Amino acid sequence: MGSETLGVVVIVGGGIAAVRAAERLAERGFAGRVEIVAAEPGTPYRRPLLTSIASSRLRDDQIALRAPMPAQARWHAGRRAVGLDPDARRVLLDDGRELPYDGLILATGAVPRTLPGARRMDDRVFTLRTLGDAHRLRGALRDARRLLIVGGGPIGCEAAAALRNRGLPTTIVELAPTLLCDTVGPRMGEAFSAWHRRHRVDVRCGVSVSSWESGGAIVRAELTDGAVVEADVALVAVGAWPDVGWLEDVPGVDVGDGILCGPTTHVVGLEGVVAAGDCARWPNLRFDETPRRVGHSANAVAMGRHAADALLDGPAGMAPFTPIPWGFTEQFGACAQLVGRPGAGVSFVDVEGRPSVMRGAVAAFDARGRFVGGTIAGARPAARWVHDAVAASCPAPPAVPVPAWDPEPHRRPRTSAARVDDPAPRIGSTLGSYAPQTRPDA
Ligand SMILES: Cc1cc2nc3c(=O)[nH]c(=O)nc-3n(C[C@H](O)[C@H](O)[C@H](O)COP(=O)(O)OP(=O)(O)OC[C@H]3O[C@@H](n4cnc5c(N)ncnc54)[C@H](O)[C@@H]3O)c2cc1C
Repeated sequence: MGSETLGVVVIVGGGIAAVRAAERLAERGFAGRVEIVAAEPGTPYRRPLLTSIASSRLRDDQIALRAPMPAQARWHAGRRAVGLDPDARRVLLDDGRELPYDGLILATGAVPRTLPGARRMDDRVFTLRTLGDAHRLRGALRDARRLLIVGGGPIGCEAAAALRNRGLPTTIVELAPTLLCDTVGPRMGEAFSAWHRRHRVDVRCGVSVSSWESGGAIVRAELTDGAVVEADVALVAVGAWPDVGWLEDVPGVDVGDGILCGPTTHVVGLEGVVAAGDCARWPNLRFDETPRRVGHSANAVAMGRHAADALLDGPAGMAPFTPIPWGFTEQFGACAQLVGRPGAGVSFVDVEGRPSVMRGAVAAFDARGRFVGGTIAGARPAARWVHDAVAASCPAPPAVPVPAWDPEPHRRPRTSAARVDDPAPRIGSTLGSYAPQTRPDA
């Protein structure tokens, strides 16, 4: 379907993939109506900064996400899509209304995984995905004396750094041999583990929680090595599932571990539907043909924009989505950039400096000997070099241009909200000028 036949585009999800998709529609001069259905109340925000909300380092207004919106955009805040009729091209909302669409963008993100045995409604055991979660965790941490974090991935490590910095004694329990092992590989994972230990985080790798006891003032976790950790607050950060339950009964659509898309982000089995961000699974043909989910903010940005183009241009006119992933983390004052897929490496080489003290770079190679990614600690300019080297080593299919080096600037603001917000709007009106519709038909 070409853009001239699209009258109404519905976007489901109110995170960064949805916002960037809407922004791209505006940039492309899309003149039809855009209906954005967003389950969370309020206006969008930068999810990677939630650890700073939980640690009271930032206020809510400092993580607001603003972007130009198409002129005819309507934001349905606090409304959830609960069903899809692809034949009639309608999205069913939780208030019983139906939104007709010509084109549909699915950007529903992910929900945190929980651990067996850890009660979901426990007032001492938390997950962190939404602003509401961050407020609840912040409240519990006010009088906390000891924190247990289960999961040494990006969220667990960033939370540990943010909260240990505030002086809160913290233990991280991680099943893998090192912190961040799946994300950066074991070589750089060792460096992160050492960095956390150096900052007096109690790091326990190679173990998991075998049983929980919680009640009264204490969470008591028994680990698989027999050790017991007691804390008054526990954060479970063991990954996320795609938020796609509402699509499970739609015939012909595969939502097992994410909405299955083709290489161009068009949803397999549905016409006029694309998906983007943490909810989507697609083959990045630059690396291989296996459809995978990617849970990074920069990917959600690029994929949201690509999905909007894919909707306007149709599958025939669209190049595959073949980004070179990029991510950023700051822990105890050390910044690290992840370029490509360092976590997919099977062999690793220190290429610069001293990675063990978070000042250097580690290159990752896959089983075929291709340079698939690198982690760079403290050496900013090298990221562009790694990007170009990964592009050369893992070329996209013919006729697909190398994406420009353009990481999403979602770095932590140090002083003011102005560094968080996007520049002034260029097209249409801004999201900020759309009051969230708690009563959509008002
Ligand atoms: C604490 C934390 C720290 C992070 N740190 C980093 C980081 O440092 N670097 C990095 O690259 N990434 C980081 N991430 C990951 C990054 O935030 C995600 O990759 C990104 O937010 C994905 O964007 P998205 O738009 O796909 O999904 P989301 O941001 O999850 O947005 C999806 C939205 O859709 C809504 N929704 C779901 N179902 C429905 C429905 N049926 N109807 C309507 N709306 C629905 C959800 O409520 C949600 O608001 C972090 C994530 C967290 C939670």
